[in-house]
Amino acid sequence: MHIGIIGQGFGGSALAWQLQQAGHTVTVFDRGIERSASWMASGLINPVTLRRRKVVQQAQMHLNAMQAYYLSVEASLGQGLLNMDSIREVLIGNQATEGWGQLADVQALKPFIGPCHEADHPGIQHSYVGQVQHSGRLHSKAYLKAMATHLGEQLIQGQVDHIEREGKAWLVSGHKVDALILAEGVQAQWTNYFFGELPFAASRGEGLTIAWDGEAMHHPYHQSHFLLPEGGSMAKLGATYSWDKFNDPPSKAARLELLDGLKPWFSMPGLRVVDQWVGIRPTMKDRIVRLGWHDVESNLGFLNGLGSRGAMTAPYWAKKLITAAPWA
Ligand SMILES: Cc1cc2nc3c(=O)[nH]c(=O)nc-3n(C[C@H](O)[C@H](O)[C@H](O)COP(=O)(O)OP(=O)(O)OC[C@H]3O[C@@H](n4cnc5c(N)ncnc54)[C@H](O)[C@@H]3O)c2cc1C
Repeated sequence: MHIGIIGQGFGGSALAWQLQQAGHTVTVFDRGIERSASWMASGLINPVTLRRRKVVQQAQMHLNAMQAYYLSVEASLGQGLLNMDSIREVLIGNQATEGWGQLADVQALKPFIGPCHEADHPGIQHSYVGQVQHSGRLHSKAYLKAMATHLGEQLIQGQVDHIEREGKAWLVSGHKVDALILAEGVQAQWTNYFFGELPFAASRGEGLTIAWDGEAMHHPYHQSHFLLPEGGSMAKLGATYSWDKFNDPPSKAARLELLDGLKPWFSMPGLRVVDQWVGIRPTMKDRIVRLGWHDVESNLGFLNGLGSRGAMTAPYWAKKLITAAPWA
């Protein structure tokens, strides 16, 4: 079958790849990176909500699907995209350090609570760190670029403003496809039109790229926010959460929140901000991912609501949607 997909974020990319693996032809439509949450994502793969010390729902299932998926993409494209170097939780004070070990007593958390050791960067002083097992990072921009290159002429750049029926097929911006899947992220114009308004509670996330003089950073850290190596003495710091001002440029308030949060646990000479960025997470009010096939237009499907964990969960949800396809 020839299947059209609107969106080449984490959702659309995982759909396109797995449909191709199943022997289908795909055409992917995407209007570019400006409105893509995936392009702004830090790519963290993290089975634990560190602030609340809770395991993500069905974490192991998502980790298994994610690992099989990215390994298959890496092997076929000949490019390293996934780095499973553990996130280090920075533990300030004796109580936090002892508390880390005790987390392993909680049955659900046990598989993810790794060793605790002295901090391994001079910017993190007087602190221990606890490793989060089975966590890591997808090089999201490299992944999205590699998928775009892989798709080649099967990726059509530009906004889809027109969808109509031609017999049983769909005409999408003039391209005929046998079935269509909407993976539009937060601006879900066509999903809302065909499936009804999705219950979004989208969240705005801002982050900084910081640099300093001295030792390079090699591992991902978390305390007030995440601090993620970006090569040499540079790191991404973020991201914030807010539920309004979606169209505003990067804000001073977020910059202060991030830098104030960093002060108690990381400092290096010459620390400076070199960039600030903002994106919108496609989260649903109840945090539950939405996907399915249309009751009447049975060759029309959608996947949305990947929230703040699309890098980890998109491979599983995409496969679930494909497996439930009326033609499967
Ligand atoms: C600041 C920030 C940091 C994040 N960090 C992480 C992280 O570390 N780890 C993690 O797992 N997740 C992270 N996320 C969340 C992650 O980005 C999302 O879960 C994921 O990107 C959602 O993917 P998606 O494919 O559903 O949507 P999107 O990435 O938004 O993709 C949808 C695509 O569809 C296109 N599109 C929509 N409508 C049309 C149309 N009509 N015509 C053509 N194209 C269209 C859009 O342009 C877009 O490219 C972060 C998000 C933000 C904002």
